Amino acid sequence: MPEAKILSGKDTAQSIYDSLKSRILSLNRKGVNPGLCVILVGDDPASRIYVRTKTKKLKSLGLISESILLPEDVKQDRLIKVIDDLNKDSNYQGILVQLPLPKHINSQKIISAISPRKDVDGFHPENVGWLSIGKPRFIPCTPKGIMKLLKHYDIDLSGKNIVVIGRSNIVGRPISILTSLNTEGANGTCTLCHSRTENLENYTKTADIVISAIGIPNFLKAEMIKRDSIIVDVGINRVDADNEKGYAIVGDADWDAVIDKVSAITPVPGGVGPMTIAMLVENTIEAAENFG
Ligand code: NAD
Repeated sequence: MPEAKILSGKDTAQSIYDSLKSRILSLNRKGVNPGLCVILVGDDPASRIYVRTKTKKLKSLGLISESILLPEDVKQDRLIKVIDDLNKDSNYQGILVQLPLPKHINSQKIISAISPRKDVDGFHPENVGWLSIGKPRFIPCTPKGIMKLLKHYDIDLSGKNIVVIGRSNIVGRPISILTSLNTEGANGTCTLCHSRTENLENYTKTADIVISAIGIPNFLKAEMIKRDSIIVDVGINRVDADNEKGYAIVGDADWDAVIDKVSAITPVPGGVGPMTIAMLVENTIEAAENFG
């Protein structure tokens, strides 16, 4: 039986960083150094790690990257004022508000307060609109990273039966739009499944490519997929483990069960995660190139 191809986001992200170097240099020659400011509200440990990883990566490439930490109980108006100031600050071409936000804050209002030209996460309604009509400005980082990863491994989506599980605005919905656009590298036939989908297996079993963004460890089993299909596993789930840390990070797919059945799969960690960070860097550079 042929072995499944491991779609390494780590390796692909590295090749993207290599190719971004010349774009950074040419911006530097014009006197522009791309800058990203990340706003973190509260002290959720996972969010802290995500913000640190993002800012560290940008800095390692010589870009400007700062974070603003605000207390958990910050008033919504105060947060909007911070965003307003950053919208006018020419040191930063990109602004990112780390999600999720505390319950007393209206996330949609906050996302809409970011200038659409600095919205490197691609969540502003204006940018969501551009994406959905096939003329993207900023593409959300995780779905953009998935598309780049598939392209890197020459996986052609045209005419393929693609099933996305999960309909969030940050992963599921935008990847369902991207895979089905009438553009080069897309043209898939995409079905978007979610928690109210009846008989999910009926969809996943017919899929050439399953993209899972649910957040339930080991959810996707071998009997749910077609032989030689491809799994893109977006899930990041912490499970108890018999190791030094006491936990391990796993995806939505039951790796041991599916590995002998698929033709290709993204690992967790080391798959979609590193691509998400790489796309944030790329979007920040794009912001500087187009609006800097
Ligand atoms: P979310 O919680 O906003 O959405 C989860 C989705 O899964 C929902 O749309 C829901 O309808 C669907 N769902 C839940 N249970 C289901 C079931 N039994 N059957 C079918 N659908 C079901 O999640 P999200 O923000 O999109 O994140 C999903 C996962 O991806 C999480 O584990 C998250 O940590 C991970 N994630 C990873 C990256 C990355 O860079 N690798 C980026 C973003 C999110």
